[in-house]
Amino acid sequence: MTGKELSYIQQAVDLGKISGNGEFTRRCQAFFEQNYGIEKCLLTNSCTDALEMAALLCDIKPGDEVIMPSFTFVSTANAFVLRGAKIVFVDSKPDHPNMDESLIEELITHKTKAIVVVHYAGVACEMDAIMSIAAQHKLWVIEDAAQGIDSFYKEKALGSIGHLGCMSFHETKNIQCGEGGMLMINDPAMIKRAEILWEKGTDRAAFFRGEVNKYGWVDIGSSFLPSEVTAAFLWAQLEELKFIQSRRMSLWESYFQLFKDNKTNPELLSDTLQFFFIEGVKDLNITWQSTKNKGNAHMFYLIFKNESDRANYSGFLKSKEVLSVFHYQSLHKSDYARNHFPAQFERNLPNSDRYSDSLLRLPMFYELREVSRSLCSDQ
Ligand SMILES: *Cc1c(COP(=O)(O)O)cnc(C)c1O
Repeated sequence: MTGKELSYIQQAVDLGKISGNGEFTRRCQAFFEQNYGIEKCLLTNSCTDALEMAALLCDIKPGDEVIMPSFTFVSTANAFVLRGAKIVFVDSKPDHPNMDESLIEELITHKTKAIVVVHYAGVACEMDAIMSIAAQHKLWVIEDAAQGIDSFYKEKALGSIGHLGCMSFHETKNIQCGEGGMLMINDPAMIKRAEILWEKGTDRAAFFRGEVNKYGWVDIGSSFLPSEVTAAFLWAQLEELKFIQSRRMSLWESYFQLFKDNKTNPELLSDTLQFFFIEGVKDLNITWQSTKNKGNAHMFYLIFKNESDRANYSGFLKSKEVLSVFHYQSLHKSDYARNHFPAQFERNLPNSDRYSDSLLRLPMFYELREVSRSLCSDQ
């Protein structure tokens, strides 16, 4: 909480209109359009909503194939499965959980319609390579930038590079409003239809701007827009974005320095991997991937040699009353994939599985005041 959330909600109530697409919604959308050069933004009730809108806007039909990483949240897949798509999973990179762009092209068939990239931990995927593959094969690119607020790829904001981008303001993200999200529309040809899908399949948004003299049912759609109560809360957070981000960046840096200072076998140091040893936690090797890009400090995670090393360290932290958590389990190995995409279930995506088994997230939130040295020693 930044302190102004409740007073902005009060203001929204005082304005006498708390349904969607009001003053606070417009302020939040304009914030992203102006600060990040995004063509058009629409607030939604979640990033899941935004992904569902993206699947509708790309006209995904039963039998279409959509390529995405296996190491991601279920919503990335569900939005397209709801339209009848078959999901084709890509493995992660050896040195980062992001999708390995070198493995995309071999998965493209005449049924492929879209590539969904996920910027894990707010660290950008290789967008130049991905956009060029997509252009060659005439595919849509949707960025799942759920974790990507205020993060960039070659000076372009995440979510502003593909045809469409989706962001989350869920409580677990850097900026939040409980449940919330946003669709970023970078292809101007999609804006008009996006507004219609957003407003339950009607041209209500155009009507309120005075562009048509009555509104009605013109397309399919749903109620994707959040209420002004949600938007007012979000605005209070967005106003403090710089402050929140600088706090998170400095926490990330303290974690990094702490673990770096505690490495004890420097001969294993390479450009992208760092190993170290924690006294008191027997035989524990931690590696972590390229530290050149901390993204937007959405999370700080460690990668272990194997599942049992992760369990040992997680137990060690628990003994110090520090909560650490795993993350995604490979979607291609899920029960849903086993039952609905058996050929995907059979595939071998070793890097995705390795991150499922060995990645551990440390506490990372605005109110966290200090990163303790005790995380690296048994004292
Ligand atoms: C959080 C998250 C989502 C879902 O966001 P909601 O706003 O909770 O719907 C989707 N994809 C990724 C990569 C996420 O981290």
